[in-house]
Amino acid sequence: MRRLTAILMMFILTLSLVSCGGQGEGDVYVDTTWHMDTYFSYLLYGRKAEKVFNELEEIVKNAEQVFDCYSADSEIYAVNEEDEDGYKEISRELFEVLERALSGYSRSDGAFDPTVGRLVSLWGFGTDDPSVPSDEDIKEALQHVGGSDVHLKQVDGRYYVSKPEGMMLDFGGIAKGYTLTLIARKLADSKLTDAVISVGGNVLLYGDRKFSVGIRRPSKDALDPVCTFSLSRCVVSTTGSYERFFVENGVQYCHIIDSKTGQSVNGDMVSLSVVMSDAAEADLWSTAYFVKGMDAALEAMRIGELEGVILTEDNRILCSEGLAEKLEEGSVAEGWTWEVVARES
Ligand code: ADP
Ligand code: MG
Repeated sequence: MRRLTAILMMFILTLSLVSCGGQGEGDVYVDTTWHMDTYFSYLLYGRKAEKVFNELEEIVKNAEQVFDCYSADSEIYAVNEEDEDGYKEISRELFEVLERALSGYSRSDGAFDPTVGRLVSLWGFGTDDPSVPSDEDIKEALQHVGGSDVHLKQVDGRYYVSKPEGMMLDFGGIAKGYTLTLIARKLADSKLTDAVISVGGNVLLYGDRKFSVGIRRPSKDALDPVCTFSLSRCVVSTTGSYERFFVENGVQYCHIIDSKTGQSVNGDMVSLSVVMSDAAEADLWSTAYFVKGMDAALEAMRIGELEGVILTEDNRILCSEGLAEKLEEGSVAEGWTWEVVARES
């Protein structure tokens, strides 16, 4: 029953946050499915929309089989279980997502770290009983973390990965975005005119049609937006500390972990949404800047490297200049202060 209510809520949310202008061609198809521990919501416009939906679902199911770390049937799960050092053959699909994740690791100076798995499980995120680990346990787990220790190689059209024994790859910060990247490729080959596909905090807007995208109020059960933007042809990815967290001795700990210290990230941002053209990039950078912290995110906005919006603990909305132009008039919720982060020339 709870599941059904959640599906209905998600459905209503998608329809209420996404309103469309202009006229599309052909069918409209709306559906919601459950994969990778989250909802996939589809709103598809154009010819044979339902057929395209079925093809997209196949892509998602395949992605789940390859790189969903939480599914015991997945290829990545088997790689994590493997105890021996040395190269192990993997599929091209897994190779490609690993390549992207490791490139994100180096480009973000290690803020995005797909080898954070041991720390995530030490803190107990993803279980019913998370708790603050001891310093010794964090120190021990840190020895099995570090993106620079993972190596890829390609020989004669075959793909290999090597990771140290005891290291656990975790694609929680990129799997959903990367799946949307695969979906976007398929959409480009389809006859659809426009689409909105939303996957747990990542929204892909395809086509020229403008959609109204809301930035969610940072509270577990809230569904109303603090502001809305009119956007097309982009991806909005959000990382927040308000959805998956626990409280111990009055302190709130969120599921994003700084892999340099092993600590749960505790900054001034309660959520960070980034707007980019590619979904895997948006997903990994929203996580990376959440780890780097508010000052780094603001600086990236000032120098024009990041379009996005930050929500703070004290109800401020800090929006980059380019994105601010897309704000829908009158959409800022009561009790929130709107501030534009000016670009320095
Ligand atoms: P969500 O999955 O909640 O929408 P994110 O995209 O930011 O949010 O991903 C969070 C997930 O990424 C965590 O649940 C964890 O699996 C993983 N993760 C945590 N810390 C890091 C990190 N520093 N780098 C990469 N992935 C991380
Ligand atoms: Mg992310």
